[in-house]
Amino acid sequence: MSEQQPETRKCAVCGKPQDAAYRPFCSKRCADIDLGRWLKEGYSIPGGEPPPDEGGEES
Ligand SMILES: [Zn+2]
Repeated sequence: MSEQQPETRKCAVCGKPQDAAYRPFCSKRCADIDLGRWLKEGYSIPGGEPPPDEGGEES
């Protein structure tokens, strides 16, 4: 127990220790989860409304 450990960093998704191959995550799974969230947020437009229907339907 004489080895100095670097600061243990946790997975940004689940809190497990990070894997060097998937930093800052612990696994590809968590990386995918975070990427999915990120993409979702990027695609969703706040206050986005569907375009008005141009169908001139009279009632
Ligand atoms: Zn994780």
